Amino acid sequence: MTPQVTDHKGGVWSIAVPIPDNPLGHTLVHLLETDRGPVLIDTGWDDPDSWTTLVAGITACGFAPAELHGVLITHHHPDHHGLSGKVREASGAWIAMHAADTAVVRRTREAEPGRWLDQLTARLAAAGAPDEHLAPLREARAQGRGRTFPGQGAALPDRDIGPGELLDLPGRRVRALWTPGHTPGHVCLHLEEEHPSGRAGGFGRLFSGDHLLPGITPHIGLYEDPKGAEDPKGAQGPEAPEGDAVPDPLGDYLDSLERVGKLAPAEVLPAHQHAFTDAVGRVRELIAHHEERLRRLRELLREPRTPWQLAMAMEWNRPWEQIPYASRNIAVSEAEAHLRRLVKQGQAERVPGAGPVRYQAA
Ligand SMILES: [Zn+2]
Ligand SMILES: [Zn+2]
Repeated sequence: MTPQVTDHKGGVWSIAVPIPDNPLGHTLVHLLETDRGPVLIDTGWDDPDSWTTLVAGITACGFAPAELHGVLITHHHPDHHGLSGKVREASGAWIAMHAADTAVVRRTREAEPGRWLDQLTARLAAAGAPDEHLAPLREARAQGRGRTFPGQGAALPDRDIGPGELLDLPGRRVRALWTPGHTPGHVCLHLEEEHPSGRAGGFGRLFSGDHLLPGITPHIGLYEDPKGAEDPKGAQGPEAPEGDAVPDPLGDYLDSLERVGKLAPAEVLPAHQHAFTDAVGRVRELIAHHEERLRRLRELLREPRTPWQLAMAMEWNRPWEQIPYASRNIAVSEAEAHLRRLVKQGQAERVPGAGPVRYQAA
């Protein structure tokens, strides 16, 4: 068996498919044997080396890529869904995803890159990003450089994964658990079968995607604006629409974590890092992490700050000055998601006034 393949027993393997130039290193693509042929859970980044590794991995599990029956995608991100199109080409396999993420795939495919740049610029400006951060984006737009972005050529899924659904996989029992937060349509997949080594202290195994990882906190930002692709003015800040209709990704994520904790699987098979057993403990850690983060944010909001200023003041894995350009955009989105949560809980409010939005503790 090649080193990138792990046999998890009971007809389940994982294949470590590399993500080029990414500190995460690889995506763990899982292969599940069914009576109709092998099914993949996620596929990996669309890159020739990644494809070669995936094909070698499927072969090492004892199958041919042409035998693949289907593909279950935990969420639309390119390190999970990137190679789905190639898999379909090689095998005719169906591709299934939650409808909320399929909608993101469809919008991304239809988006005109220039408009996408406009939307990003508008959103960062509204969040208080300084001119020196916006200048490269404006310059790219002025020069008509329609930047390409991952996901533009992503495969359109042909099946929906419904919340709570027992999936149609002959000979296996896999139930979908809708776990929005990291993306609006993220799903975990619960293999409702005895653990092959009879492990006590939980039931079945959970393919957790990016929702529950042993040593990383998944990124929680604002969901992409549905209107964003067509309308740059659709850029939404943490205050955006009013009432219950306002998406609250961090609130969704914490709810999803609670539900996974109640499920208490015997083992978690995540899409990055490594398999682990204490799902309940890990859920508790992540909830505590976000609660602590919200508490510190409330303190920082004793003085009014824009989302950008808040991101600068928050704690990251390195000082703000050392955070690369693109990662700052992600950091601001993360700050906005936390702000959205605080606003929703009535613990922060928007400061009236023109210019970039500012918030303070309520
Ligand atoms: Zn992801
Ligand atoms: Zn990922």
